Amino acid sequence: MSGIDDLPPLRQVINTHGLSARKSLGQNFLLDLNLTAKIARQAGDLSGSDVLEIGPGPGGLTRGLLASGARKVLAVEKDHRCIPALEEIALAYPGRLQIIEGDALEINPLAYLTPPIRIAANLPYNVGTELLVRWLTPPDWPPFWQSLTLMFQREVAERIVAKPGSKAYGRLAVLAQWRSDARIVMSLPPEAFTPAPKVSSAVVQLTALPQPRYPADPAVLSRVVATAFNQRRKMLRAALKGLAPDIEDRLVAAGLKPTDRAEQIPLEGFCALARELG
Ligand code: SAM
Repeated sequence: MSGIDDLPPLRQVINTHGLSARKSLGQNFLLDLNLTAKIARQAGDLSGSDVLEIGPGPGGLTRGLLASGARKVLAVEKDHRCIPALEEIALAYPGRLQIIEGDALEINPLAYLTPPIRIAANLPYNVGTELLVRWLTPPDWPPFWQSLTLMFQREVAERIVAKPGSKAYGRLAVLAQWRSDARIVMSLPPEAFTPAPKVSSAVVQLTALPQPRYPADPAVLSRVVATAFNQRRKMLRAALKGLAPDIEDRLVAAGLKPTDRAEQIPLEGFCALARELG
């Protein structure tokens, strides 16, 4: 018995199923069920929601999400060794846990879930940023998810919530903050994980806004921001010159100084430029 449910403690699960952590799969497990329950609570009231969890591993966060009352959890795990451990959880929560063995980058979760949908994950570091960018950049808004509760390396979490003028401010901050509220809600030291990674981690909570903060075409904004931060030390007139022959005039028309650098430009400025170039 573990405290949050009647299933065995996670160390025992790992020993029973031979789940030695594999670096190639970004495996750093959370074995403290009080901690995984706390992360699940950050995701908000789960009782009426389906939850997509990427990379459940031995199932610590999965158990936290189910114990917090999630209507259904869809757990997508690439490592086949974890599936029998997850099936034991499914038996303890009849009809509420669906397990898919596969690559999160390749499955379409909408085929299995009913809105409202929330996403929660202690993400594998190797695919975490790519998944986040996909979730943040659908062509239409609002997206299929209401909130994202995601563990990242601390440095990535800081890039998501960064404000203009800081070194961490860049493409991730603009994409995240344009159409969602993004906050760091928990910090975790390396020792919280088994094995302990080299760096600290943090949980970021992103809540989808009903509509973007400022109007802009998503594809144009993405291109402008990627190009601007690709050469972040250059002045905008040089960094963006490939986007339009008269880029200096366009920058001025958008209310920006051609001599400013990308990291000084607030979200509103990038959106104005995207509208000007769109
Ligand atoms: N959620 C567990 C926990 O908190 O203890 C495990 C987290 S561990 C950081 C990341 C998990 O993602 C591992 O179980 C790993 O096998 C899985 N994983 C890695 N790449 C994946 C992918 N492309 N699709 C689905 N799962 C993946």
